[in-house]
Amino acid sequence: MMKLSESFLAALADVLGPNGLRCDDVAGTIDPGMDPRNLDAGVLALPASTQEVQALVRLCVEHGVTIVPQGGRTGLAGGAQSQPGQLIVATTKMNKIVEVDPKGATAVVEAGVVLSALQEEAAEHGLSTAIDLGARDSATIGGLISTNAGGIEAFRFGTMRHRILGIEAVLPSGEIVSDLKRVVKANEGYDIKQLLIGAEGTLGIVTRAVVNLVPLDGETATGLVSCPTSGDALALFKRLRASQKATLVASEIMWPGFARATSAALGLDALTAFAPDDHVYLLVEMAGETSDGTQMIVEELLGDALEAQEASDAVLAKSAEERRRMWLIREESFEADKAMPHGFWYDISVPHACLERYTDDLFPRMAAIDPALVVFMFGHLGDGNLHLTITRGTPMEELHDRVNTVLFEGLMEAGGSFSAEHGIGLEKRQLLRERGSAEKNDAMHAIKAALDSAGIMNPGKVI
Ligand SMILES: Cc1cc2nc3c(=O)[nH]c(=O)nc-3n(C[C@H](O)[C@H](O)[C@H](O)COP(=O)(O)OP(=O)(O)OC[C@H]3O[C@@H](n4cnc5c(N)ncnc54)[C@H](O)[C@@H]3O)c2cc1C
Repeated sequence: MMKLSESFLAALADVLGPNGLRCDDVAGTIDPGMDPRNLDAGVLALPASTQEVQALVRLCVEHGVTIVPQGGRTGLAGGAQSQPGQLIVATTKMNKIVEVDPKGATAVVEAGVVLSALQEEAAEHGLSTAIDLGARDSATIGGLISTNAGGIEAFRFGTMRHRILGIEAVLPSGEIVSDLKRVVKANEGYDIKQLLIGAEGTLGIVTRAVVNLVPLDGETATGLVSCPTSGDALALFKRLRASQKATLVASEIMWPGFARATSAALGLDALTAFAPDDHVYLLVEMAGETSDGTQMIVEELLGDALEAQEASDAVLAKSAEERRRMWLIREESFEADKAMPHGFWYDISVPHACLERYTDDLFPRMAAIDPALVVFMFGHLGDGNLHLTITRGTPMEELHDRVNTVLFEGLMEAGGSFSAEHGIGLEKRQLLRERGSAEKNDAMHAIKAALDSAGIMNPGKVI
């Protein structure tokens, strides 16, 4: 096992102060998050300021030590995995919401701020982060930026790339790039901020950011709707989106195999029992001026959808607890994987124009590979982002290439993506090589070499 030298650790301890370095039983006392290998480096730096990050990066350059930045460790592509001999740089202590400016609807935050903390603070001012996802209680702004996270509201407000006005970061050279703009328009040459967004920690450590906030949604009404086909679910999505009376704020689709497996695992079968076996579910949420008023508008819209046969049935949440349970079926998505392990996991984007055909074809095509294969599928319908597990509950490595061929056939040609919102990390590097453009990959290598010639920043990730 490689070890960091005593002289390096002593110099690092000087930079970070008494509580800034953890070398003792890191794996035993800190939650590794979504990937058990995240803490394998065993040494964790906890800088408290941008200046400390700068000093530690310079020290790493001097000693040839490679860095793995980490936020909430909720990433799903292995981008935060570390190895012995590396230094984990965690943003845990950099968790200050520096300022929320209600007039400008912006927030200046340190990278380690957890999403739900910013959501709560923004709500105090009648504002919203315009980004939301299931990992909201752990994922950090730095991690969300670095993975260009999407989530539930991306169909309305875009991904992190569209929410960030300014960034401060320490580059692999140890230089601080501070560009904490609070305006949407700033064409000042190459946009280094956009290069850092989605770079998964390979081009620098994000230390601060300016988030563009939006007005908080009004009172919401939530419903679980069954639709005969995914095409009908899409028609319903368009109907609700077009409403002038209330705003559609969430439209999460679940195919019956996924919804039934998850609800059974959570003991919530009764909630999904209303729908015919082969119908898809759409979890919808709309916002309007008053709670009762919004509920009535949603009832009316769903009534129209039933008449148009876009929906076959629907239940509306009558309390906060009922709403929470509906969302659990969607957000506790790993329950389905636990029930049938060993599956292959995918995060793809499918253009609306071909979503129904693509998803309909998938089931018979997977069955043709092996009749025992099960497709668990759900996702953010509004932007066509689907998450899939293809599994038969037993090891199935020999099927990998055939499953990939079926899954990706025609997807890129139709304008979709093999990597929607979780990033490349370690898990999708091969896919990037096989399915990405060779010229784009070359350009990425050139950018990495230009900014990180010593290769110290999260090496081996993305490219
Ligand atoms: C239940 C659940 C639901 C999820 N839902 C969604 C969803 O709907 N949409 C979505 O997009 N994602 C989703 N995710 C994935 C995950 O939450 C996001 O990828 C999130 O952005 C990661 O943030 P983090 O702070 O946990 O980062 P980490 O997991 O700690 O790190 C992720 C990557 O960012 C890098 N990084 C972290 N902080 C910094 C920094 N300050 N500077 C530079 N690099 C850094 C790391 O090196 C790594 O490559 C979900 C995850 C879970 C567990």
